[in-house]
Formats: sequence, C-alpha cells, structure tokens
Amino acid sequence: MDNCIFCKIVKGEIPSSKVYEDENVLAFKDIKPVAPVHIIIIPKQHIANVNELTPETAPLLGDIHLAAKKIAEDLGIAKEGYRLINNCGENAGQTVFHLHYHLIGGVKLGVSII
Ligand code: 5GP
Ligand code: ZN
Repeated sequence: MDNCIFCKIVKGEIPSSKVYEDENVLAFKDIKPVAPVHIIIIPKQHIANVNELTPETAPLLGDIHLAAKKIAEDLGIAKEGYRLINNCGENAGQTVFHLHYHLIGGVKLGVSII
C-alpha cells in the first residue's frame, strides 16, 4: 500500500527501531511509547485490520503471537507480564490502518483495559 506508514517501515523507506524480524513479521519500538516497553508487531503483508483477515491470512496471527512471546522473553518482561492490544477500527482508536499489535509492559499496568 503506497500511503501506509507501516508498509513504508517494512520497505525501509521510514526508519524504525527494529526489535524483531522474520519472514512474515516485523516488530519495532512505538514512536510514542506509553510504557517502558512499547513495541508494535505487524505482519509484513498489508492487512488493514482484523476485519480484513481471511482464512488464508489468519495464520499470521500465530506468527505475531510467537514473535510477541520471543520479544517479551528477549526484553526480560515475560515473567512479570505484559499486555498485547489490537485496536480494530475507528471506535477502538485505530490510527494506522495496517494490522498491528501493541506489546506493552515493563511496568505494573492497571487492572482495567479501558
Ligand atoms: P493505533 O492507535 O493505530 O492502534 O496505534 C498506532 C501506533 O503507531 C501508535 O501508538 C503510534 O505512536 C505508532 N506510530 C505511528 N506512526 C509511527 C511511526 O512512524 N513509527 C513508529 N515507530 N510508530 C508509529
Ligand atoms: Zn501497510
């Protein structure tokens, strides 16, 4: 997608602080972190959000979760815990329409998710 910020990060057209990469998945530090650890995990393939998933692309969610597990271990927050968040659509506050998960941790998070 030509005007997608995260596709530009995948192509290296916009710099990012990468923390993980494999064939299907890329993860990088959020530009405006809300916690000591705030990583964005995306499929390299452009998918706008969960609404656009298909049976063919859904296995990418498994890849993303395995990446999240590895990143949390590498960053030393796996045991203490962390939150994986996906915003889908306008009411959820999605601002970048390329499917992504926020991995947030490194601090005691509130018990409420909203
Ligand atoms: P959303 O609100 O769509 O769930 O989250 C989008 C996230 O992407 C936000 O937390 C925002 O800070 C982050 N973001 C937006 N543009 C960039 C960018 O160019 N680079 C990085 N690293 N993060 C970005
Ligand atoms: Zn994209």
